[in-house]
Amino acid sequence: MSKTLLIKNANVLVTMNEQREEISNGAVFIRDNVIEQVGPSATLPQTADEVIDASHHVVLPGLINTHHHMYQSLTRAVPAAQNGELFNWLTNLYPIWANLTPEMIQVSTQTAMAELMLSGCTTSSDHLYIYPNGCRLDDSLEAAQEIGMRFHAARGSMSVGQSKGGLPPDRVVEQEADILRDTQRLIETYHDAERHAMQRIVVAPCSPFSVSRDLMRESASMARSFGVSLHTHLAENVNDIAYSREKFNMTPAEYAEDCGWVGHDVWHAHCVQLDDAGINLFAHTHTGIAHCPCSNMRLASGIAPIRKMLDAGVSVGLGVDGCASNDSGHMMAEVRQAMLLQRVGFGPDAMTARQALEVATLGGAKVLNRDDIGALKPGMSADIVMFDVRQIGFAGALHDPVAALVFCTPPNVACSIINGRVVIRDGRLTTIDLGQVIERHNTLAFALAEAAR
Ligand SMILES: [Zn+2]
Repeated sequence: MSKTLLIKNANVLVTMNEQREEISNGAVFIRDNVIEQVGPSATLPQTADEVIDASHHVVLPGLINTHHHMYQSLTRAVPAAQNGELFNWLTNLYPIWANLTPEMIQVSTQTAMAELMLSGCTTSSDHLYIYPNGCRLDDSLEAAQEIGMRFHAARGSMSVGQSKGGLPPDRVVEQEADILRDTQRLIETYHDAERHAMQRIVVAPCSPFSVSRDLMRESASMARSFGVSLHTHLAENVNDIAYSREKFNMTPAEYAEDCGWVGHDVWHAHCVQLDDAGINLFAHTHTGIAHCPCSNMRLASGIAPIRKMLDAGVSVGLGVDGCASNDSGHMMAEVRQAMLLQRVGFGPDAMTARQALEVATLGGAKVLNRDDIGALKPGMSADIVMFDVRQIGFAGALHDPVAALVFCTPPNVACSIINGRVVIRDGRLTTIDLGQVIERHNTLAFALAEAAR
């Protein structure tokens, strides 16, 4: 027996379809986990097993987060790491992260996912690259399943410690053979290649300054043999460029190409310092980018040339990045910062509110190599979010409620549907006891900081 769900009377329904239609008094009709019809409320079925009245709400495709390190939500605003650039910031945090436990991974994943979901995100990737004390990616996958978020779990890794010229301390790196073995196990256990998949695995060595060239190459060939995506950090700041020049005698883009790390199945986080040749390479190879404006500002990495990348035809998605360099995981706030930061760098017409929303929906879907999320149209996964426009932050902005979502105070959702399931109703998560999770999270955060003293 199939179950139907009708969302109707939306103030505005943003489809992100080919025509970028926005429908006044819009409705969506869902059967099980898939959207069956989208249009004006009057033209759709009038009843369903469940009906949600979206009067006074803007309805959007669920936002897509393409870069995160959820465990870092245990180390937000750590005093020693508040004011450094990337390499200095990492050096202060590695010793703390060395004491992570499986429970910490599980609880921090739920905290980070709850924050994302409440802020309009329905699909997220997470890049977990540190596995001390028996931590496994399985801990994140279980947490995601329980909270009900669509999840691309990236099996990160670090193999080049300080003794071999890398940045991380030796005690947090792994052997490359172990990394590849565990990655294959995860793909074989969890990866779902079907449309509407809730769980996918991504092969994701942490960065060129923490793994070897061999591991980059072997990761690419493993990913391609299983048909899964590849993800890493690239060209984040000027020190990152200098390391690449000194160690490999190449720009980061040249190094990526040399290792087989370009293609529609690859996306790189940041690319703040990607040069014009790199932008052209990424455009013609359909290589994606995760833009993380808050983190780039927080670590003073610079302003990624997103306008230029979009004009060149590069696929760009949005990422909140880890909670230790943001230190928020609010997806709609990130959309706002993406719009504002492009303007700081490249002028007031560098990015509109709707272009920023497009990066966070269609852009994210493309970067994650999916054709079933990012838009509200028949045949797409039922990932839908609703924002109440009667809240204080939107007062006086209802000339254009869609733009208001981006220009005004970043809002939380009233309702969120992921894969046809209502996971947030009346602004509250239906799948977990959030109060309990936050309390446990804070206890673990203090324990983690204490262990490093
Ligand atoms: Zn990152």
